[in-house]
Amino acid sequence: MDPAVSELKVVFVDLDNTIYDWLGFFGPAMRGLCPRLSELAGVSESELYREFKDVFRRAGSVEYTTALQELPTLARLNPDKDRADLANYYFDAIKAFQYRRRMYLRLYPTVIESLEQLRDWGITVIAVTDGHRFQVLNRLWQLKVSDLFYGVCCLPDPPVDEGEIARIRRYPDGHYSHPAGKDLIAPEGVRKPDPRLLTALLGEVGAKPEEALYIGDSLTKDVLMAQAAGVFDCWSAYGAGYSAVDLKTLLRVTNWSADAIEAMDAGPDQVGVHPSFVATSFADVVTLAGLPRRKWPNRSGWSAVKIKLPGFELGPESALETQPVPTPSLASHATRMRGRHAWTQSPM
Ligand SMILES: [Mg+2]
Repeated sequence: MDPAVSELKVVFVDLDNTIYDWLGFFGPAMRGLCPRLSELAGVSESELYREFKDVFRRAGSVEYTTALQELPTLARLNPDKDRADLANYYFDAIKAFQYRRRMYLRLYPTVIESLEQLRDWGITVIAVTDGHRFQVLNRLWQLKVSDLFYGVCCLPDPPVDEGEIARIRRYPDGHYSHPAGKDLIAPEGVRKPDPRLLTALLGEVGAKPEEALYIGDSLTKDVLMAQAAGVFDCWSAYGAGYSAVDLKTLLRVTNWSADAIEAMDAGPDQVGVHPSFVATSFADVVTLAGLPRRKWPNRSGWSAVKIKLPGFELGPESALETQPVPTPSLASHATRMRGRHAWTQSPM
């Protein structure tokens, strides 16, 4: 092991726009779905985009797996069909979404080699994301990096109708299960940038804040949280490049607030959060890991103590729910989640 590495025990890694370009696949996937659905249903694409936006807003997520079943126009056109029937009837459009999402999902350069290097050095790598479990684990599996994480801290899946999902799925349950180390489900109400999320994860692996490093693209969520938890923060500034076409697609359907959209390309001065280190590629994590801690450049000083973001409140006190490795079978897994988690269809 590199001598400097022994000082660093944990690397926390945000996922969207830190290891892959989230908008880079979501945009093309929506642009595969809507034209096909428009053809099949004889409804204009604009109308479909508008209805998706309403559904995503209501669900609070643009990665809402059963959105198609909830489009009012499709229900109106097919009064004899229930939700599962609708998903099956328009499955070609769902397939177009899934295919494009898979084709456009790509790791940023250097990610896989860097994760492998961290693993070879014996460093614990934990993914920390606001994404829902099913989508997150599926994505890591498609990217072939599931094995490179000690665990994934994410949100539980929203409840779904298991009977409906069973009627839509084409494959046995095992086909949809892709564990990536330990499930580290975030406690209810505790989300980025609540620093207790990191404190709980540090406790999970028995590391101190100064033995950890965090890399993420959001100044107001990732960088701020790391600073507030006393963990060295690394801003993945390379994740801020969006295609104009993909951004336009997102704006047509997003549930995000105007502030959240504005924040997508806001810099440190605009949001008042100054990262300690600005990464120009994911490999910078390996560079930092290979240096003694005292030599890590600290470009701007930590800002968490200086600012308070509007709307940022600490969640309720609670520890992370953890589950042992290896990941249990589907049945026992579902039991452990005490009904909070539900397997979803291979998503739309
Ligand atoms: Mg991100």
